[in-house]
Amino acid sequence: MDSDGDGRISQDEWLRPPQAFKRIDRDKDSFVTVEELREFTKKRFSGQKNSRMNSGESVGANPELNSDVDATASPGYDGSVYEIIDTHVHLGGGPKQRNFAAGASEALSKMPERHVAIAIVLPTPQVVLPTAQKRNSQKRYDYSELRRVNHSDRIRIGGGAGILGKMLHGSETVSLEQRDSFRDLTQSLAEEGIVAFGEIGLYHFALPQIGNKFGSVPLNHPLLDVLGDVAAKAGIPIDVHFDVVPRNSSLPKQLAGVGNPGYLKANLAQFEQFLSRNRKTKIVWAHAGLEVTSFRTARLCADLLQRHNNLYMSIRLTRGAPKPSAAMDTSGQLKNEWKQLFTRFPDRFVLGSESMYGSSMSSLFDHQFVLYQKLLAQLPPAVARKIASENALAIYPLGGSQ
Ligand SMILES: [Zn+2]
Repeated sequence: MDSDGDGRISQDEWLRPPQAFKRIDRDKDSFVTVEELREFTKKRFSGQKNSRMNSGESVGANPELNSDVDATASPGYDGSVYEIIDTHVHLGGGPKQRNFAAGASEALSKMPERHVAIAIVLPTPQVVLPTAQKRNSQKRYDYSELRRVNHSDRIRIGGGAGILGKMLHGSETVSLEQRDSFRDLTQSLAEEGIVAFGEIGLYHFALPQIGNKFGSVPLNHPLLDVLGDVAAKAGIPIDVHFDVVPRNSSLPKQLAGVGNPGYLKANLAQFEQFLSRNRKTKIVWAHAGLEVTSFRTARLCADLLQRHNNLYMSIRLTRGAPKPSAAMDTSGQLKNEWKQLFTRFPDRFVLGSESMYGSSMSSLFDHQFVLYQKLLAQLPPAVARKIASENALAIYPLGGSQ
């Protein structure tokens, strides 16, 4: 975090919660020094009861892991750390950071400390830009580029965002020939051994902090149904990024100025039609519990899960109270309506951190794994085990090898 290299961390440089800064900065000079950090971690871990937390090197890298859960822990929680399957990660950051080999090796080195047993790497949604901008756009990438850099069974790879995305973002009027060639492409990805199709950007806001582009695929696009059909027959889920707009609205102001449409047309009904048309296809709707907008509430998630048996969700958390779309409040406590949602549909949730291994943003995701353990500790253990890993094993074809 020490971006100016002066050997200490100022409040501006600090990337963790501000409360933690205050606790660690013992002499209150508004800088965290190496000595203060060392003292803080030493104190923290001499007080740890859990021997597993005490033994591993991993703990040092994540001093907050498992720390404040006691107050909110679910009855039956025994204090252990859950091993998780992370179903949604990327290698590299934006279009300018695509060193996949570095990403794969960083993933393998960070996964143990994050308690990730298996990570599913997906190519990011790749929007087709208007011709005028094409000169600046980077090369597309997909399964084969990611496959080439991976030599571990602990990383499993999805595909389709690059090569299928190109056609999905194109015209809705497709000839029989185009439809056939799309089907062939999709089928060949399935045969190569991808464990998920994705990340398909059905409706994807541009975010100022990421530098991505706004993109959308018409939900009645005929090629989406071809993808759904192939995915169902191959038993491979589709991971979708879908920023839901339940009713026509103006653009939330935090999303202004980066190329998003100023006026948002409702897209929920069309999403439900897409789910209904592809009843046999497992759709994993990414980023439940995050707070990009206020639209994706626990209530909305419950209604959709109730109506669509083929719908699953991956959880990504921010401490984003008070927005109704944030599952956790600022203290890391799971909100009641979200707790009820996870407990009511225990088979329908997995974890998906969005980690960007090998990018300059990589360490920003450390905290996600602290929050995951807090989340799991607050759920009944049988539900927590499902969400941590058992559901992912049931939804994704992780049995084979790539
Ligand atoms: Zn993603």
